[in-house]
Amino acid sequence: RLSNRLKAVASFVGEGAVVADIGSDHAYLPCYLLKTGKINRAIAGEVANGPYDSAMKNVLKEGLSDSITVRLADGLFAIKETDLVDTITIAGMGGTLIASILENGKTQLDSITRIIVQPNIQSSVIRKWAVFNGWKIVSEQILKEDDKIYEVLTMEKGLSSYDETEILLGPFLCLEKSVVFREKWEREIVEWHRVLLSIEDAEETDLVRKKKKQVKSQIELVRKV
Ligand code: SAM
Repeated sequence: RLSNRLKAVASFVGEGAVVADIGSDHAYLPCYLLKTGKINRAIAGEVANGPYDSAMKNVLKEGLSDSITVRLADGLFAIKETDLVDTITIAGMGGTLIASILENGKTQLDSITRIIVQPNIQSSVIRKWAVFNGWKIVSEQILKEDDKIYEVLTMEKGLSSYDETEILLGPFLCLEKSVVFREKWEREIVEWHRVLLSIEDAEETDLVRKKKKQVKSQIELVRKV
């Protein structure tokens, strides 16, 4: 059974899309998309040998070798022009790593019309990347599974601009203010207070002062929403 987290990512893939799932590990997501009939072709990209082998094995086991091509490559370089990929999915990594994969593979994005990402942390880094690179967020979802909270962001080409609050919390998520969203940010605030407490007695260097100010302003910003 596919996790709800990856099912959420799958739900944003368009019918008949050609998908490149980057950092695919077991290739669960492309296999699911093929088996449910939502898509007919996918690339599963992996940079590490172990996960690449798992992806190969799983695709073979599912009898999907004709429809899913597994490639050992760094980030978006798993995509070839002849694949006619139009959708990229990147799930289960930190936002900073996802943004760096997108940044390093910019030359591969010409034919791409939709990018779906599921950052485990630091989704703000991806939103910033989108603004600077001509992508806009078209939808966001937040969900909880096994006590972990995940965000799924879908981006399409277009100009966008977001204020500080939207970058941190998500332009759609901060309007919706779901129960899970509230829980996520209540948890963050607890964590930030812990950080403040841990540096309370530290010597007041410029760095400590800057950190305190930054954490306090984040708490305030989130509380306002
Ligand atoms: N996407 C799957 C999921 O959401 O369940 C697997 C997530 S797993 C935690 C992250 C995977 O990304 C690992 O298998 C890792 O090898 C792969 N990865 C990390 N950096 C990568 C890169 N630059 N290019 C391709 N794969 C990468």
